[in-house]
Amino acid sequence: MRHDNSVPPTRRARPLLAAALASLCLTVTGCGGGGGGDGGAAPVQPRPGSGAGTSAPPSPSAPVSPSASKSPEPKPATSSASMKPLPMGPLTGRTVVIDPGHNPRNREHTREIGRQVNIGTGTKECDTTGTSTNGGYAEALFTLDVSHRLRDLLEAQGAKVKLTYDNDRPFGPCVDERARIGNEAAADAVVSVHADGSAVGNRGFHVILPALVRSGAADTSKIVEQSADLGARIAGNFLRATGTAPSNYIGGNTGLDTRKDLGGLNLSTVPKVFIECGNMRDPKDSALLTSGSWRQKAAQGLADGITGYLKG
Ligand code: ZN
Repeated sequence: MRHDNSVPPTRRARPLLAAALASLCLTVTGCGGGGGGDGGAAPVQPRPGSGAGTSAPPSPSAPVSPSASKSPEPKPATSSASMKPLPMGPLTGRTVVIDPGHNPRNREHTREIGRQVNIGTGTKECDTTGTSTNGGYAEALFTLDVSHRLRDLLEAQGAKVKLTYDNDRPFGPCVDERARIGNEAAADAVVSVHADGSAVGNRGFHVILPALVRSGAADTSKIVEQSADLGARIAGNFLRATGTAPSNYIGGNTGLDTRKDLGGLNLSTVPKVFIECGNMRDPKDSALLTSGSWRQKAAQGLADGITGYLKG
C-alpha cells in the first residue's frame, strides 16, 4: 500500500536507466506502450509528473557482470535470521536488509501504529495496516512471504540477510525504526516490499526511489544515486522474471517513481528502495499476487536486481 497519499510524489526522469530498461521492455507484451496490453484503463489516480508524456521506456536490468569485482574478501557468515551457516557465493560478505511492509497484526493496534514519528520532513504515522485483495489476502502476509523467498535466494548466494521483522512483534516496526534497522546493519542494500491498493484497471509494479531530501533528521544526499541504480536493476529484473509490465498508473510506464514523503527512505543512510509489486485491488493483478509461483518469480526478480547491483 502506498502508505501516505497526502503528499504528492516527485518523479524525475532517469534517461540513462530508462534507456537501459528499454531493450528488456521490448520482450514483454504491453510494456512501455502507454498501458497497452496490460489492462488498459486510463490512470484513475494521476499523480503530478507521472503521466507527463515522458513515457520513457522501462529501465534496465543492468547487465550482471560475471566478475564480482566489488565484492569484499569472502568470509563465512551466519544469517541473523536463520542462524544457519551460509554457503560461500558471489554475495559472501554482503549484507542485505529486507523490510516486509506492514505487519498482519497492525490492525489490532491502531492506536500504537497511529503514533506520529519524525520522518525528517515532518511527522507521519508509525505504520499503517496495509491493503488486501478483495478476497482478504493481506498485503502484510504477501510482503512477508515474498521476503522469506527473497531471503532464501540471497542466502543461497552467501549474503547475510536481516528482516526488519519476522512475525516476532505484535505491531510495526514504525517506519523510522525500519530505516534504522537497515542503517545499523550497515546494509549494502535494503528493499522494502509492498503491494499497492489502487483502483481496478491500475496494474503493474513500480519501484520507489528516494528523492534528494535534506530536512531535519533526513539527508538522502549520499544514497540517491546508489538507490537509483539499485532500483533500476530491480525494476529490470522484476520485469524479466515475472513477465509483468511496469505500472500503468504511476511512473509513466518506467516502473520507477521517486518520492520524498516516505520516512523509510528519507531516514535511510544506506541504499534503499521500495517496490509495489502490483495492485491488490485489481482482479488480474490479484490473481498474480495470490499465486505462490508468481511470488517466487517476484522474489527471483528482486534477488537478481540486488545481486546485479552488489556485483556492480
Ligand atoms: Zn504497503
